[in-house]
Amino acid sequence: MALETVNVNEPRRIVDPEPEPEDFDSEATLRPQTLEDYVGQDKVKENLKIYLKAAQMRGEPLDHLLLYGPPGLGKTTLACIVAKEMGVQIRITSGPAIEKPGDLAALLTNLQEGDVLFIDEIHRLSRQVEEVLYPALEDYALDIMIGKGPSAQSIRINLPRFTLIGATTRAGQLSSPLRDRFGVLLKLELYTPDELAKIVRRSASILGIGCDIGGSEQIAKCSRGTPRVANRLLKRARDFAMVIGDGNITWDTADIALMRMDIDAMGLDELDRSLLRAIIEMYNGGPVGLETLAAALGEESVTLEDVCEPYLMQLGYLTRTPRGRCVTKYAYEHLKINMPTSEKTETSQQTMF
Ligand code: ADP
Repeated sequence: MALETVNVNEPRRIVDPEPEPEDFDSEATLRPQTLEDYVGQDKVKENLKIYLKAAQMRGEPLDHLLLYGPPGLGKTTLACIVAKEMGVQIRITSGPAIEKPGDLAALLTNLQEGDVLFIDEIHRLSRQVEEVLYPALEDYALDIMIGKGPSAQSIRINLPRFTLIGATTRAGQLSSPLRDRFGVLLKLELYTPDELAKIVRRSASILGIGCDIGGSEQIAKCSRGTPRVANRLLKRARDFAMVIGDGNITWDTADIALMRMDIDAMGLDELDRSLLRAIIEMYNGGPVGLETLAAALGEESVTLEDVCEPYLMQLGYLTRTPRGRCVTKYAYEHLKINMPTSEKTETSQQTMF
């Protein structure tokens, strides 16, 4: 199985919603253990409660479940909660870690009746591995070829009934045969500042950090709708509070910490601002294609698409059109750049229709 390599020379973004090695220990402590503790995502939680209850009443495992949404929103956490609520074990792996069909076969044959298999980044499974997964999902069976050439034989191994929970940041990239085999599809949304402030206060109390309402609200506002970012900012704000204050995070210390980390009042960092500025200054506000933009910024297009864009779109600073990305008048206002008059008319027409 593949080992992930980390380039230590690459500058890391404090607001990157992808997990970093330093997050692993604290994430285990901070993960909510029950649906009650899981803040926000009310629609997802309400539906999930029903599906869990119904499966328990029938005495069957939960139907296969696909969770999708940007990184850091709580997909792994929710999968762990499902396993806990069903009273079963969870095995956690990811698409790129399952390199060969044999890797998947080994995982599946080690499951117990009712267990949850969680595959993160499921859109990155190879086609060969996916083919092994289909009969496993539909008939709880593995078809294995033994031998080669004319004497080759296919044998079928029965598997225990299990629940697959797949997580992906890009549901559109899942092959349709795989998507169709999930009985439940749940989309996680970016969190509101109120929900994030609640998460910050919860994490602060678990980690023993003093953080008042103002401090938690200030951190929440700059967390890009993402709990993982909120938790990371909380830990960095604690460093500032300890060195420049009395150790407690208040609105003021949080504000200083965010400013020193180059995060502005709306939670944008340098990469977000460069993206907006590039569209404005190099492409007259857009439209511009994603690949062109990525090349202009020297960034990977997936980073822009998965990390920067969901939040910029939630703020209403960026739109995706069939012809490419465009900024809105709010991006001009945020960056304090005068909007050309012709674009003002165009944007107001776009808003009208
Ligand atoms: P994903 O799998 O979507 O990338 P995770 O489930 O690993 O995200 O969540 C990242 C961290 O954010 C977790 O360690 C957890 O502490 C926190 N978190 C996520 N969702 C919630 C939530 N709804 N309530 C409280 N904390 C959350």
